[in-house]
Amino acid sequence: MAGEETVIILPEMNVAFDVGRAPRELINIDYVCLTHGHMDHSAGLAYYFSQRNFQGLPPGCVLAHHRLVPAIQDLMQVYGRIEGHVTPAQVIGVDEDEDVAIRRDLLVRPFRVRHSGSALGFSVIEVRKKLRPELAELSGQQIAELKRSGQEVEYRLEIPRVAFCGDSAPGDYLDHPHVRDAEVVIIECTFFEGDHIDRAYLGQHTHVNDLPGVLARLNSKYVVISHITRRTGIAEAKRRLLQVLKPADIQRVVVLMDRPPRNRRETLRPVASDEG
Ligand SMILES: [Zn+2]
Ligand SMILES: [Zn+2]
Repeated sequence: MAGEETVIILPEMNVAFDVGRAPRELINIDYVCLTHGHMDHSAGLAYYFSQRNFQGLPPGCVLAHHRLVPAIQDLMQVYGRIEGHVTPAQVIGVDEDEDVAIRRDLLVRPFRVRHSGSALGFSVIEVRKKLRPELAELSGQQIAELKRSGQEVEYRLEIPRVAFCGDSAPGDYLDHPHVRDAEVVIIECTFFEGDHIDRAYLGQHTHVNDLPGVLARLNSKYVVISHITRRTGIAEAKRRLLQVLKPADIQRVVVLMDRPPRNRRETLRPVASDEG
């Protein structure tokens, strides 16, 4: 929900995008990709590290833009003064195309998006080694001999699995092959009302009117919509999506928050003025 909390967890890949308010499900995840510093995306950072420490887990690893790294380290020091001890934290600074391996067969590739300053998106890419096709007829022994002689017998195949674009206005990042061709792309669509177009433009967010153009650039099997403003609400947002999307796109678009909030009373709170 825009301005409140963004955290997306992929337990099968041991990675999460943003920390939100560090829900329980996040604590066991070893890698967290932080898109930008807005509070709705970053509030739980210190709690994430602290809970891992409390549970006897290794510190965990947050990937964030280089510019944010000193501030996150300062945050942990300040919390150390509040708590009486400093919790260990591992923060890796990244920028566009500075890949980080998170498993033997998985890497995270950051990319620049169009939001506050140094905001990033992240693609999770599966990497496979495949036998070069021209060697397919050879026996295992022949291939082993080639390998021993120093010849490259395999090539590297990248399969983009998930791309998370964080908070962003539409931009050229949609055309990166690891975003465009990802099986699942998670994008924000904050605004849905006609008179919210200026608001989307000023805050560098996506408006529902942008979506047909965004979807035309993506080959993804699934496009997940997140970060909807509470000003509009899910039911109304879905109604507007149905109005603007092409029938073929309706099949592949999923609204992430398509379930009742955990705490119903939250929906009765007054609307905040900032969408994060
Ligand atoms: Zn933001
Ligand atoms: Zn946000």
